[in-house]
Amino acid sequence: MAELTPKGMRLHIGLFGRRNVGKSSLLNAVVRQQVSIVSEFAGTTTDPVDKPMELLPIGPVLFIDTAGIDDEGALGQLRIDKTRKAIDRTDVGVIVTDGQWDSFEEHLCAELTERGVPVIAALNKADLHQPPAELIDRLHARKIGVVVVSSTTGQGLDDFRAALLAAAPAEFIDSPAIAGDLVGPGQMAILVVPIDKEAPKGRLILPQVQTIRDLLDSDAMCLVVKERELRAAVENLKHPPALVVTDSQAFKEVAAVVPPNVPMTGFSVLYSRFKGDLITQTLGATAVDTLRPGDNVLVAESCTHHPIEDDIGRVKIPKWLNCYVGGKLNFTTVQGQDFPDDISPYKLVIHCGACMWNRRLMLNRILKCRRANVPITNYGLVIAYSLGIFERALGPFPAALQAFKNAGRK
Ligand code: SF4
Repeated sequence: MAELTPKGMRLHIGLFGRRNVGKSSLLNAVVRQQVSIVSEFAGTTTDPVDKPMELLPIGPVLFIDTAGIDDEGALGQLRIDKTRKAIDRTDVGVIVTDGQWDSFEEHLCAELTERGVPVIAALNKADLHQPPAELIDRLHARKIGVVVVSSTTGQGLDDFRAALLAAAPAEFIDSPAIAGDLVGPGQMAILVVPIDKEAPKGRLILPQVQTIRDLLDSDAMCLVVKERELRAAVENLKHPPALVVTDSQAFKEVAAVVPPNVPMTGFSVLYSRFKGDLITQTLGATAVDTLRPGDNVLVAESCTHHPIEDDIGRVKIPKWLNCYVGGKLNFTTVQGQDFPDDISPYKLVIHCGACMWNRRLMLNRILKCRRANVPITNYGLVIAYSLGIFERALGPFPAALQAFKNAGRK
């Protein structure tokens, strides 16, 4: 799906710097695939190379791998001109250096900041030499993001992703739609909203309200029903709905009623895409198969609501997962900002939909898990997985479904 995202909607990340500081190798290391020609000789990259890709957890980005801007001679001047043009279309500028930072880097930095482009200094080749502490302090003092990286050993690559996430302008981080892009104008979506003990008195919860609003903004129609009325709603429609979205707790009942040719998913799955990173959290759900009785599982909620008797995060998911693994798991629940610094003791993090948070906050939490090598998923995804209806719930999201299938083939 990422390949379908138009170029203009991708975060453009420009890599700049002198020749032979390792711009192309850094790009290759970050995306873990060979996208630029890399050689030990200065000036291998001639024209800027555009590479669209899905960079977890940010989403669709376009890397612009530029020629060394200090190229010499007539050909060098041409490369410099092309690099300057690349600066014009850059959203986040990365100045790659192997420790040298003088008037040349300052000039590049000025070209970027004059255009209001955030700058990250990537101090590369950390495996060969540590960058001067004085330089790091100087850049920090000027509020320039600094990452110490090594394309060879992989040191600092997660810090680099985190720095890109921090520097990316908000419009690239905020997801464009909750469900509106899945339902065409004039088409119908059915939302299944159980009114049970967990439902707040007299109102709908935020993910339900926001989904309704998003559908209306997209000129789609929506019909809101409880699970008991779903069959009648589906049968009474002249045309099948374009999408059915259910509360994850009713996944099984809803899947039994909705015809197999009608796309169906859960509010939590929509929110994994909207507030988090659907591919990472999809793959995270599969970690359920590696859990053994006694393993530690962290359940994290973004807000501090008062838990009720049959709480989904404290009671229902633990009950289902204990049953799935055939023994008792060790659950810890945290709320709000109360997320442990050290998550290495946990085998899995199960997060709520984070409807109260902005996406950047949730993506930072996902990055934290990634750094600690701990899989992270969310409520709806883990429920769909443990109920055996994962592929159905991922049906409206081909990229996530494909990532899941690819993971199964490894
Ligand atoms: S922030 Fe999380 S726990 Fe709070 S209402 Fe939203 S999804 Fe539920």
